Amino acid sequence: MDLRLNNKVVVITGGLKGIGGGISLSLAREGAIPVIISRSKNEEFEKELKKVCPNGYAIYCFDLADYEGLESLCKEILNKYPNVYALVNNAGANDNLAIEEHNIKDIIKSYENNLFHYYELTRLLLPSIKNNQGNILNIVSKTAVTGQGKTSAYASAKAAQIGFSREWACAFAKDNVRVNAIAPAEVMTPLYEKWLKNFPNPQEQYEQIASKIPLGKRFTTIEEIADFATFIISPRSSHTTGQIFHIDGGYVHLDRALNWD
Ligand code: NAP
Repeated sequence: MDLRLNNKVVVITGGLKGIGGGISLSLAREGAIPVIISRSKNEEFEKELKKVCPNGYAIYCFDLADYEGLESLCKEILNKYPNVYALVNNAGANDNLAIEEHNIKDIIKSYENNLFHYYELTRLLLPSIKNNQGNILNIVSKTAVTGQGKTSAYASAKAAQIGFSREWACAFAKDNVRVNAIAPAEVMTPLYEKWLKNFPNPQEQYEQIASKIPLGKRFTTIEEIADFATFIISPRSSHTTGQIFHIDGGYVHLDRALNWD
């Protein structure tokens, strides 16, 4: 199937690593032009990206927590790429801020890293996305609907992103701009690997979590998220908007009382 993504410019935050990296590669393989905003460099990944980018790519080094700087960054991007077709809001991290240990200033800081840039980038790139009848994809998290017990800021930022997704789907429908979200649950990424290292036995912890995932008792792969994202971003998915897709092997919605063996 031709996804009709050839030469389409897609801005991806955190697109040099993990889930965002997978989305950059998958889009590039379909001929899209990934325009990546990332805090840190990843030369090894860039080599891989170069090989699969027939139509080029761009990387802007920028810390998205600096949401006030996004206006000039977007000007720079739009100057070079006036036709932005899609935006993938993806960058963020579960920072485990338990309510007992953190005050509102910590929460705001977490929102700066996880939430505010989703809003600002959408606002600033929207005119171009409208002109190109494009779409926005927000990467959220299962924690927005399940909670996690000690991550107030992150879980609520992710819940707000779900709110943004539905609100924007309503607001932009008249312009034929679609807005969707993907809620991963457990995906082995550099961020997840780092988190597992906090446990005395990371392998045991991994196996314990994987055993609770109905489909295959395994984590979702980066490619499984990325390929789904690529289809949703593509014009082939032209009548899909306002959806929150749980790509998680049934983790959030299937009956926990059943024996999945
Ligand atoms: P990851 O492996 O850390 O990759 C995220 C990328 O985003 C990294 O390159 C990171 O840069 C970049 N980034 C983070 N904050 C940034 C900022 N303020 N400015 C610029 N770049 C920034 O993380 P991931 O696991 O792929 O997570 C991607 C998204 O999926 C996040 O929104 C996360 O909440 C969500 N998610 C992940 C899982 C999972 O199981 N992995 C589950 C649910 C939701 P650095 O390398 O500098 O940190």
